Amino acid sequence: MRDVTEELRAAKTIVMSLHRQPDGDSIGSTAAIAMALRRLGKQVTLVTPDAVPRVYDVIPLYGEFQTWDAMADRRFDLVALFDCADERRTGAPKELHAYAPRVLDVDHHATNTRFGDVVFVDPQAAASAEIAARVIDQLGVTIDREIALALYIGLETDTGGFRYSATTPDSHRLAARLLDAGLEPGEISQEIYERQNVSGLRLLGAALQSLRVREDLSLAYVLLSLEDFARAGASAADAETLNIVEYARRIEGIEVGALLREEEPGQVKLSLRSKGGVDVARLAVAIGGGGHPRAAGATIQGSMQQAEGTLLSLLRP
Ligand code: 5GP
Ligand code: MN
Repeated sequence: MRDVTEELRAAKTIVMSLHRQPDGDSIGSTAAIAMALRRLGKQVTLVTPDAVPRVYDVIPLYGEFQTWDAMADRRFDLVALFDCADERRTGAPKELHAYAPRVLDVDHHATNTRFGDVVFVDPQAAASAEIAARVIDQLGVTIDREIALALYIGLETDTGGFRYSATTPDSHRLAARLLDAGLEPGEISQEIYERQNVSGLRLLGAALQSLRVREDLSLAYVLLSLEDFARAGASAADAETLNIVEYARRIEGIEVGALLREEEPGQVKLSLRSKGGVDVARLAVAIGGGGHPRAAGATIQGSMQQAEGTLLSLLRP
């Protein structure tokens, strides 16, 4: 942990990127660290490979995320990444060392490929926001209301509202501390969970219509094609913020829930969720992805039908 803060202290100009299809933890932990670094006088530039879901617009710095293309001719002292399990997840068109001589990789995914010059991975942390809070403490920056809000959103969303089994007493202790900084949890959950657009809910409807249950494999899954997105008028960000994949796991007696989402013709994003009996990170790694034992993902090249075949073969004994 000390080498993480040393790396951050040594840099004057820092670029931070979210991961593809950024979630609340990616945005929250990155924004919190960026705010803390600015309080120390650092110049921090923020990048995202994909659109940041609108529900996260309460996070300070929400409007500041630029594209990697805008970084093409820029050089920094450091690339600092939080919650990014591998280099490709940044979506950067060039290797990360093209942007800075040093790369910092801080994460809570056990499958992290340890691609940084300095790496800190704590798979016990329920969210990267937990690690970010420790880094901010060690930097000696006070966690004020704005930083607390970013951290809380990372923590709350990655623990599924403190429901997932990765949640620990430390998660709750951090949450209490963040609330003490002046946050109101009801207000925050209203911002994040009760501002869905109608098209997102229509997409959820299409997903639930597509539900397939394979009791023999203890698997339930839903499929969303590009046509489903077009018909609903919805975006990939809607699928992420509605946590559509979780519905498949909710069925009694089903161990693994999955979502197959067509990203572009010939490319399908697979999301996997487990109740704990199956390590879905292991399944995802087998096809080039990664994640956590109970939440993982991968990108599959091929048609929806081929991706479905891949999913079924992963679950077959
Ligand atoms: P989701 O299914 O919500 O996209 O991702 C679930 C978890 O798996 C997240 O922690 C996410 O970071 C990780 N994950 C999803 N897709 C990939 C992937 O293609 N590669 C890696 N390494 N991790 C992924
Ligand atoms: Mn995370």
